[in-house]
Amino acid sequence: MTSSLFDLAGRVAVVTGGNGGIGLGMATGLARAGAAIVIAARDQKKSADAAEGLQKLGARVATVEVDVQDQDSVRRMAQAALDRFQRIDILVANAGINIRRPPEDFAAAEWQKVLDVNLSGPFFCAQAVHPAMKAQGGGKIITIGSMMSIFAMPMAPAYGATKGAVVQLTRSLATAWAKDNIQVNCVLPGWIDTNLTRQARKEVSGLHERILARTPAGRWGDPVDFAGIAVFLASHASDFLTGTAIPVDGGYSVLGG
Ligand code: NDP
Repeated sequence: MTSSLFDLAGRVAVVTGGNGGIGLGMATGLARAGAAIVIAARDQKKSADAAEGLQKLGARVATVEVDVQDQDSVRRMAQAALDRFQRIDILVANAGINIRRPPEDFAAAEWQKVLDVNLSGPFFCAQAVHPAMKAQGGGKIITIGSMMSIFAMPMAPAYGATKGAVVQLTRSLATAWAKDNIQVNCVLPGWIDTNLTRQARKEVSGLHERILARTPAGRWGDPVDFAGIAVFLASHASDFLTGTAIPVDGGYSVLGG
């Protein structure tokens, strides 16, 4: 049993936003553990490049174009994964965006867009994979929160609202689908060096240094820091763990004072 605790051979993982950043870091961990990977995102060139990298690790990989805001597109994504690999064992609902703006300046369309991608997206994806997981006798769903699930920032009212809500969504799904042997857990990344935060670092002077000073690990996170938690939450090692929100943050969320 111990040797197979983290083994994902024969499993199939759908990773939204798996063509870069944290999603690709997670996909890499899952691929190394033996899972076949479906990279689901909008930019097909970026997805093809990411797939090539995973294939070099020996993984079976497919790419699917999806816009997670669109429920029909998400349904097609799940069907494409099933057509290609005949099963879905793992969903990483990772795709996410931010629009940085003070609350008083947020346009309705901007507000709606962040909610659609960051909150409706994971919900639609979870709904779309549930029938296959249930029929197979179980599955693993990983959602992505943020330090903004715990803390607040003045320029991130919509992002913070969605990242708080995704923790509650995770708990709801965990309680609803425990009977189907589906475990649902949320990862709360700290400050990670990706396209998302590269933009924030350009826009917010001093952000880079402030995060470094505030993070006990003394560094920004790297997407590869998410390989291990992905394997843990996708494997038998976490079979009695559900509804949790786990910080992967170099200690950012526990530093007092
Ligand atoms: P990136 O911008 O690098 O990755 C975001 C990914 O989401 C891209 O692969 C993008 O691919 C995909 N995506 C965006 N919109 C859509 C859409 N509508 N439909 C399908 N895919 C979409 O950012 P990160 O890796 O940093 O972010 C990944 C997740 O981690 C997000 O949920 C983010 O909120 C969260 N997070 C990140 C933190 C950080 O410090 N970086 C901290 C806390 C949380 P494409 O453009 O091809 O569609």
